[in-house]
Amino acid sequence: MDNLRRQYLQAMGIPVWVRRQQPGEVDSSDITPAPLDMPHELEELSDAQAISCATWQVLEGRVASCTACDLHSTRTQTVFGTGDREAGWMFIGEAPGADEDRQGEPFVGRAGQLLNAMIQAIGLRREQVYIANILKCRPPRNRDPRPEEVACCERYLHRQVELVQPRVILALGRIAAHNLLKTDVSLGRMRGRCYRYSDTQIPVVVTYHPAYLLRSPNEKRKAWQDLQFATRMYAEGE
Ligand code: SF4
Repeated sequence: MDNLRRQYLQAMGIPVWVRRQQPGEVDSSDITPAPLDMPHELEELSDAQAISCATWQVLEGRVASCTACDLHSTRTQTVFGTGDREAGWMFIGEAPGADEDRQGEPFVGRAGQLLNAMIQAIGLRREQVYIANILKCRPPRNRDPRPEEVACCERYLHRQVELVQPRVILALGRIAAHNLLKTDVSLGRMRGRCYRYSDTQIPVVVTYHPAYLLRSPNEKRKAWQDLQFATRMYAEGE
């Protein structure tokens, strides 16, 4: 067993037994050890641990090469996230669409333009907030993300939130809100309430997805109310 693997198992609290050398026995360190297969559970654990302490650079690389769910086989490219990595505001949608899959950036196209307008409405520019999605790869034909895909991918978003440490998160649309907050309450009932992200104290405010607002422009007034509510949550964190 090499030192690295021994240190890793010891750090995990897994006892490591080293057999004493017998008289006349060749020192095992003189022999090139055969590679050991790491048990699947340990591989997954080491993967999760690596992501949970990854730098931006490492995280971006992990996402770009990720094949953890089937969506990797149909994507053009991954869509990591964009904006100020020290932003006070974080906007989170559900998954890339066709434009995002082509350009590698979240919220481009018409929905992206409306999101930019929403950001301007709170006195900021797109580059001053951080924008990401729950999933980093496009679901075919823009279908809803599947639970197993979210389960594979949400660790990346979780690390992004940890790194940004925003003062407030805007969940854009029902799917984003349900997956961020682990609830199936209707979007209408979630509006106007302050939730907390995962095991943090970061406030989460729910509003409509810009693509929905393009189809239902009469709801833009409600989205503006949500933005004002989020601005109050942001100010309370000062
Ligand atoms: Fe990996 Fe997420 Fe893409 Fe699935 S959606 S392949 S988990 S990056």
